Amino acid sequence: MIIRKTPEQIDQMAAAGAIQARCLKMLRAKCHPGITTAELDEAADRFITAQGATPSFKGYRGFPGSICASPNSMVVHGIPGPYALKRGDVIALDVGVTKDGWVADAAQTVPIGPIKPEARELLDATRGALFAGADQARPGNHLGDVSAAVQRHVEDSGFSIIRSLVGHGIGRDMHEDPQIPNYGEPGRGPKLEPGMVLAIEPMVNAGGPNVRVGDDSWAVYSADGSLAAHFEFTVAVTDNGPRILTPWHEE
Ligand code: MG
Repeated sequence: MIIRKTPEQIDQMAAAGAIQARCLKMLRAKCHPGITTAELDEAADRFITAQGATPSFKGYRGFPGSICASPNSMVVHGIPGPYALKRGDVIALDVGVTKDGWVADAAQTVPIGPIKPEARELLDATRGALFAGADQARPGNHLGDVSAAVQRHVEDSGFSIIRSLVGHGIGRDMHEDPQIPNYGEPGRGPKLEPGMVLAIEPMVNAGGPNVRVGDDSWAVYSADGSLAAHFEFTVAVTDNGPRILTPWHEE
């Protein structure tokens, strides 16, 4: 069942989302060679807590970090630790913020200094796919319109959608119905209605579409070791169209 939120509840989710977006901005500014993902995690935890909110990921199914930090061929769910960023890396930063019982979830993949042209294209394609998908989050459309828009954008760019990882509904719980695949057919799936809130999150490999889970049982890597990217927004379906509740793009 897809839980619809009232306009007032969506405003509360936007308050969580504003903290989330500012946290990502703060982290982006710290993404220089030499900083460790553990240091980014500590900075995020301090920032979120200082806003009277809590990091949603901490303790989720035993996850030890406040953020997920996933460099290079790691797609998602990286546990922060001793890894120090290097020039030419890309690092996916995924942050969840819970404020007054409402969750906002978003991610960005950040380049560390100059990166190779293919890496730049991968980031541009994945970010573009997110915007294309979010633009379909309108009343009267179907969930398949979101999924298909993401897929088309990624595949037109020559990269691979990871099919085993999906986006999700979000609200009082970080993961609600529906699951949101990053591939699909226009006009299929549940009809979108005002009050639905979606965490849309294309996860893309530069090489083949397969992934493997690391020894820590959390980190997900591209199976062929190719570069990966992840961008995510929490988006509300409203009478006025898509409302992005985690507006990191506006900064
Ligand atoms: Mg998510």
